[in-house]
Amino acid sequence: MTTRTRLTIKALLLLLVLSIVVLVVLASWRPSLTRWQAFLLPAPAPATPLQITWLGTATVLVSDGDNAIMTDGFFSRQSLLQLATGDIEPDLARIEAGLARVGLDRPGALDAVVVLHSHYDHAMDAPEVARRTGARVIGSESTANVSRGWDLPEVQIHVPEAGEVMQFGRFELELVPSAHVPMLPFIARLTGHGETIDAPLRPPAPVSAWKEGQSYALVVRHPQGRLLIQGSAGFAGGELAGHEVDVALLSTGSLGRQSSRYISRYFEETVLTTGAHTVIPMHWDHFFSMLDRNTHPLGPLLDDFHGAMDGLRQQSEQHERDFRMLEPLATFGLEDGRLTGD
Ligand SMILES: [Zn+2]
Repeated sequence: MTTRTRLTIKALLLLLVLSIVVLVVLASWRPSLTRWQAFLLPAPAPATPLQITWLGTATVLVSDGDNAIMTDGFFSRQSLLQLATGDIEPDLARIEAGLARVGLDRPGALDAVVVLHSHYDHAMDAPEVARRTGARVIGSESTANVSRGWDLPEVQIHVPEAGEVMQFGRFELELVPSAHVPMLPFIARLTGHGETIDAPLRPPAPVSAWKEGQSYALVVRHPQGRLLIQGSAGFAGGELAGHEVDVALLSTGSLGRQSSRYISRYFEETVLTTGAHTVIPMHWDHFFSMLDRNTHPLGPLLDDFHGAMDGLRQQSEQHERDFRMLEPLATFGLEDGRLTGD
């Protein structure tokens, strides 16, 4: 072996080791919430008529004391290693604990679990949440097939017609077809971007089995306040015209990877179109780890968390909207369309 070959091999080995070190550092980097402390919403007083709790990803519980609805109902939160190395299925212990934590671990506790698209981190646990609480699973035909694969009775599965308004007590719900955030081509292929689940999906199955299906925005209307719950940081364009809300809960996963032009369009289509006075980001948590108050945001390998928050905060300032943050598991309140406790 010549000296030159030996040097080349050494240089390549050094490069390999450096690349691994950089990857490990990036993968374990945890963006801090400290920068956003000043924007945290206060907890509501116990008597607040409408209470909204963020349970990580796009899982949001909305309750007025008489009725309760939830989006997605995802609690399993498999690790990246589990997702990469094997088939996945709902984690019954985590679902049970997740429901118990918010007092929903009994039949009749929840009226509806509304699935905002059919990727595993939105749809996978919904039929088990429905089975335990008696809720109906509401969503696309793909989500209906996720429910059928879990043997949820047909009476608990509902695919709404376009424009259908669903009533639960004083709640009115409307699912508005929207779009998913753009993803890197290989992730889009892996996760069935734009594809549907056309037969009952029986877990365990590879993560790629939970294809996107139709992506939705959910509009929740209640005499005490109106919410937009946007399941993914995407928009079709004009779909929310004519819908008015007070608070927009916006998914931000992958938003930090988009251009500033995209972020301002996202803001326009969701916040400006609906007239929301308050913007609250969600689905920024590292959902490959357990959920608690200290669950950190997605790291730099997966998203640009601070970039996304800065983008939405700047848009909010420019358009005179209130930009607020919620920690995972935190609750805020609405009364007559205004935030309580401020
Ligand atoms: Zn998705």
